[in-house]
Amino acid sequence: MVRAGPVRIGGGAPISVQSMCATPTRDVEATSAQAEALRAAGAALVRVAVDSGVDAKALAAIRERTGAALVVDLQEHFQLAERVAPYVDKLRYNPGHLHHHARQQSMRDKVAYLAEVAGSHDCALRIGVNCGSVAPEYDKRFPGDSIGAMVSCALDHCELLDDLGFQNYLVSLKDSDPGRVIEGNRRFASERPEVPLHLGVTEAGLLPEGEIKTRIAFEQLIPQGIGDTIRVSLTLPNERKHEEVRIGHEILEDIAQGRFRSVPDFGGGLNIISCPSCSRVENTRFVELAEQVRDLASYARGHDLTIAVMGCRVNGPGETDDADLGLWCGPRVVNLKRGEQKLGAFGYDVVLDRLRVELDRLIEERGEVAG
Ligand code: SF4
Repeated sequence: MVRAGPVRIGGGAPISVQSMCATPTRDVEATSAQAEALRAAGAALVRVAVDSGVDAKALAAIRERTGAALVVDLQEHFQLAERVAPYVDKLRYNPGHLHHHARQQSMRDKVAYLAEVAGSHDCALRIGVNCGSVAPEYDKRFPGDSIGAMVSCALDHCELLDDLGFQNYLVSLKDSDPGRVIEGNRRFASERPEVPLHLGVTEAGLLPEGEIKTRIAFEQLIPQGIGDTIRVSLTLPNERKHEEVRIGHEILEDIAQGRFRSVPDFGGGLNIISCPSCSRVENTRFVELAEQVRDLASYARGHDLTIAVMGCRVNGPGETDDADLGLWCGPRVVNLKRGEQKLGAFGYDVVLDRLRVELDRLIEERGEVAG
């Protein structure tokens, strides 16, 4: 069982629902208010991204203003762990990002540092593996099997923490495709059934599709005893962010009551993925853009295509590589890609016209017939 402040995860504890603030962390008032809104909606844990020393300093003030159990997402800045750990109950690190930073240090030393910081402040650790950012060595070891790469990476990090004698950890294996979330978590759980799992479909997108994708994954995993804490990652404006938590509780309740909804098959047809947004979103028009993309592309619903819409330059460029068409937001422009090829940066007012041209072109080239 993992202890994160007052929250128990795994070992027979009830499945908890958590969420993440999407406000700029340095905005102490807004982030404290959102943490409280998430807590009031039933979030057992509230995650906050820390990207700088300013964010780390803000966290101390946020801690004073909210009763929420806090988790810090260290994604790109694992060295900030020692500055934030005194104020939080759990630290999340992404092994893929750890690989790219402080290259002069061994992975073992970086994980040992995190375990030492977490242990001395009684924090839990989450090994947060994301299919879009697995370290390159795993892609080489598992050519054509990105799920295998993700699972192997998670298993290796468990082994590192085990060797270091750090036990208060859990794992997440996320992807934007619910089928891959199911497969990854099943494979991991078959190898390490005793390690608690945080479930989530990352970048599930807008409602209602984002909820449906999440339900697909959770309905397959939780009844099999896989999953100890959940997050529903939806693209929502800040004033509605707490709906992630309500929906998470509703999904758990439906599963507990045996209420399984019929769900569409995401194996074919148009698939729009969009990130849940967080403090890194570079333009507040992001949510509106995601909605506009969905509306614009509705004429292509019979075509087997994926369009990804991301809120920032941190994850936008990489996370859109696997999509047929990808958009990621900058402060004043939206970057458009076709697969891994950059098509350019376009103003928010004109990007949809260009997207339509590219979508028409793709459909024509593939010669697909809308169903
Ligand atoms: S893509 Fe960027 S804005 Fe969207 S959730 Fe990920 S880090 Fe946050």
